[in-house]
Amino acid sequence: MGDELGPSRTARIDLGAIRSNVESLRAHAGQAEVLAVVKADAYGHGLLPSARAARAAGASWLGVALLEEALALRAAGVDGRLLAWLLAPGEPRLADAVAADVDLSVSAVWGVDEAVAAARAVGRPARLHLKADTGLSRGGATAADWDQLVATALRAEADGTVRVVGVWTHLAWADVPDHPTVDKQLDAFAYAVERAERAGARLEVRHAANSAATLTRPDARFDLVRPGLAVYGLSPVPQLGGPEAYGLRPAMTLTAKLALVKRVPEGSGVSYGHAYVTPRDTTVGLVPLGYADGVPRHASGSGPVLAAGRRRKVAGRVCMDQFVLDLGDDAAAAGDEVVLFGAGDDGAPTAEEWAQAAGTISYEIVARLGPRVHRVWVDG
Ligand SMILES: *Cc1c(COP(=O)(O)O)cnc(C)c1O
Repeated sequence: MGDELGPSRTARIDLGAIRSNVESLRAHAGQAEVLAVVKADAYGHGLLPSARAARAAGASWLGVALLEEALALRAAGVDGRLLAWLLAPGEPRLADAVAADVDLSVSAVWGVDEAVAAARAVGRPARLHLKADTGLSRGGATAADWDQLVATALRAEADGTVRVVGVWTHLAWADVPDHPTVDKQLDAFAYAVERAERAGARLEVRHAANSAATLTRPDARFDLVRPGLAVYGLSPVPQLGGPEAYGLRPAMTLTAKLALVKRVPEGSGVSYGHAYVTPRDTTVGLVPLGYADGVPRHASGSGPVLAAGRRRKVAGRVCMDQFVLDLGDDAAAAGDEVVLFGAGDDGAPTAEEWAQAAGTISYEIVARLGPRVHRVWVDG
């Protein structure tokens, strides 16, 4: 048996990789500042350690989706510029966020009104970024609603209850850098900025670029770029180049210890539905990770794993807590470590390969890792 004491499912996060990725992104950003996106537990990498590593490497802004995420950063003592962008009406902690100097995104007049009320409650102005919908049809005010949003926010600014510090947008096709919608959205964004400035806005920052645009569209940088995926070392444009092509290194390595190893005869059906049948007498190894931990069930029969010295594919179905590998006649013992994905430079698969095996994107592979996976932060 393998002898090391320790958790059977581990995601090891290399904080040195996060720092060096942020440094690469700063180089790509040119004159623009970097906002490191740390939403969703830093894409599964751990909110606080990742945020601190990004800050240490010069990310002067941090960004999250939810107010709860922003307030968790503040509660842990993370200071500096911080933007939260996904607010619904009646957020219970909006006033706390204003008091904690969290910048807020607003896409509609009700958002300004709620920010004003929160600002009055805590006696300090709310810092607002007005979001323009330039063609994603997700967050943001459409061109038809833009002037009214700007006017409402600037009236509140004149009353001293808000500061309109930013105008921003988000791209639909940034992962296809020469897609015609990128130019269209950037033109629409320039127009939204111009309308706001003509109306009297004195902006600190204009921002539009996610990871893909930061790496491939210098004309989308404006004053601030908002990379998420690239901070964690994964390529947002895998069809154009892997992480190394952009000076990035994947920060997460996902491993597990084999929970059981045994011989089974030829013709043994493996896992639910017997989707895999052993072609000969063989050794099977049980991996204690399943779809409840974020291993996609869609990677049944296809997810790649480095085990007993070789690459294997998941044998049969991924279950809730576990899946099986066919190890052939290679030597293996319960307790041996297997690697689902890592940095990609040691023979082990990558998160990108898991994404392809499951028909998804690498974002989902890392962000969906569940709480039963033990996180360990190392400084490589
Ligand atoms: C998640 C997110 C980002 C980061 O996107 P990546 O593709 O991970 O770089 C940037 N901006 C907004 C509004 C987001 O929701």
